[in-house]
Amino acid sequence: MIDTSTPQKDRVLIFDTTLRDGEQSPGATMSHSEKLEIAQLLDEMGVDIIEAGFPIASEGDFEAVRDIAKGARNAVICGLSRANTTDIDRCWEAVRHAARPRIHTFIGTSPLHRDIPKLSKDAMAEVIHATVSHARNLCDNVQWSPMDATRTEHDYLCRVVEIAIKAGASTINIPDTVGYTAPRESAALIAMLLERVPGADEVVFSTHCHNDLGMATANALAAVEAGARQIECTINGLGDVSGVSGFPVQYNKAIVGKNAFAHESGIHQDGMLKNAETFEIMRPEDIGLASTSLVMGKHSGRAALRAKLSELGFELGDNQLKDIFVRFKALADRKKEVYDDDLIALMRDSTAAEQSDRLSIKFLRVICGTEAPQSADLTLTVDGVDHQTTATGDGPVDATFKAVRALFPHEARLDLYQVHAVTEGTDAQATVSVRLEEDGRIVTGQSSDTDTVVASAKAYVNALNRLLIRRTKQAPDAGLRSVS
Ligand SMILES: [Zn+2]
Repeated sequence: MIDTSTPQKDRVLIFDTTLRDGEQSPGATMSHSEKLEIAQLLDEMGVDIIEAGFPIASEGDFEAVRDIAKGARNAVICGLSRANTTDIDRCWEAVRHAARPRIHTFIGTSPLHRDIPKLSKDAMAEVIHATVSHARNLCDNVQWSPMDATRTEHDYLCRVVEIAIKAGASTINIPDTVGYTAPRESAALIAMLLERVPGADEVVFSTHCHNDLGMATANALAAVEAGARQIECTINGLGDVSGVSGFPVQYNKAIVGKNAFAHESGIHQDGMLKNAETFEIMRPEDIGLASTSLVMGKHSGRAALRAKLSELGFELGDNQLKDIFVRFKALADRKKEVYDDDLIALMRDSTAAEQSDRLSIKFLRVICGTEAPQSADLTLTVDGVDHQTTATGDGPVDATFKAVRALFPHEARLDLYQVHAVTEGTDAQATVSVRLEEDGRIVTGQSSDTDTVVASAKAYVNALNRLLIRRTKQAPDAGLRSVS
C-alpha cells in the first residue's frame, strides 16, 4: 500500500485534461489562443499537471502543446501519445519546451482493444515494454495508461502495469474509458493493483473516470480512498471554460450550476440569513462567483469600466478599452443594468471579432409576427465585399440563416442551435450557440446580443468563420479522436 504517513505521498495531484480529453467532446473544439488562455488559468489555479493535447493528432494540436509548454510556470505539461515511437517522439518534441515535461503514452489492453491491432497478450506486453522504455529515454516523467482498464482481465492488467513500472513509468493511470464502473469496483481495482503489482508503492496511481453513467466524481473519490494519488478531470466535466466550447452549464449542475447557490424555500432563506453554513458547504467566492456584484449602467464611466473589467480578470490597453467602452455604452443604452455576465459576454464577442474573420454581418432587419412568412433583409460582408439579399423562412431565425446561406453558399449542416439568457429580465442579452458540421469537422460559434435574432445571426457567422479556418487545416483522423 502507499505509505500515507508521508505528506508528499498523501497529496492528491490534480491532472487536468480539459485541453485534450475535453476537446474531444463533439463541438468543444477550441482555438489556439483559447487553449493558451485556458492553460494559463489552469497553471495559475495551481493544477499540478496539464494535459495540453495530443501532438501527433494535427499540426494545430502540436503547436498548442508546444506553446503551452513554453509558457507554463509551475504545472507539469503533459502530451498524449499512442504506443509507437513516432507518436512518442512527436509528443516529446512538443512537451520538451516545458520546465517540467511529461510524456503520457497509452494502449488499449482489454480483449476488445487488443483485437484491433490483432496483438496477442504477449505481443502487447512487448509493445508496452518497448514504448514506455522509449518514452523514458526521452523524458524522466512518463505516465502510462492501459486504456479500457476497467474491462481488462485482472491478471493481465497486473502483468502489464508491472511491465510499465519496470520500463520506467512513474505514473500509472487507470481509465474507465467506457464510463461504466461503480465506486466500489473503482476502489477495488486500485486496491488490487497496489496489493498485487511489484513496485506499485514506488509509483503514483491515477484515476480517469468517464461520466457516462453520472458516477465519475464518486468513482474518482473511491479510487483515492483506495490509494490513488492523481485524479484526471476536466473543467465542468468537458472542455468548457467560461463558455468557450459553447456548451452552457446546466442550472442544477453540482457546484458550478446557477442554482447551486440559489435558495428558494423560506426555511433555507431564514437559515442562510442567520448563518450561511446552515445550508452551504462552500462559499460562492470559492468557485469564483463574486459575492457582491457592482452593477454597471449607462452612467458608468471609463474608469469604472476598466476597474470592473480588471476585477473580472480582463486587463485592457487604452485602445482596447476605448473600443469596449463604445460597445458597453451601446449595450447600456438598450439595457438598464449591465451585469458581470453581460460584460464577460461582451468581452468574449470582442475577442472573437479580433480574429481575421472573412464574414461579418453589416445589416440585418427582420420582419416577424403572426403573419407568415417571416423575412430577413441581410447585408453580409464577405472578404471585404458587401452582398445583400432578402430571404423568407419559417420564423425569423430560419429566414436569417437562409439569407446567410444564400449569400455564402455552403454544405455545412446545422447540428445544434441553442439560446440562453445571460442575465435575467426581458432586456437580458441572449447568448446563442450554433454548431455546424461539415465532413466530420465540427465547429461552434457563439454570440450575445439583447436581440436574439441578431445574436443568432452573429453566432452562425462566427461558426462559419471558424469552419473556414478549419477547412485550411488538416482533416481530422477519426482514429485519433476516440482515446482514453
Ligand atoms: Zn478520457
